[in-house]
Amino acid sequence: MSGRTRGRVCPQRTCVGCRERTDKDVLLRVVLIGGSLIPDLRGRLPGRGAYVHSVPSCLEQAVRRRAFNRAFRGPGPFDLADLREHVEREARTSTERP
Ligand SMILES: [Zn+2]
Repeated sequence: MSGRTRGRVCPQRTCVGCRERTDKDVLLRVVLIGGSLIPDLRGRLPGRGAYVHSVPSCLEQAVRRRAFNRAFRGPGPFDLADLREHVEREARTSTERP
């Protein structure tokens, strides 16, 4: 599903859920702030980031395999409320067809 880049090299990142390597723009950046995983919608929050597809299946895979613990080098558990809410909201809007 990758398009041609016509010489422009896009930064690549790996989804911590499905481990697919893809353009950074496609993935949601997640940062750890005070024990909570926060979706970094503008890509501007400071600190270490992890990248995940903004879909529930990838988020759940990442949680199940403790990918966030590895990415943020912490034992967790992390508060996923904000991140989950964001991903689920996106999933709902993308399935709603006008
Ligand atoms: Zn993924």
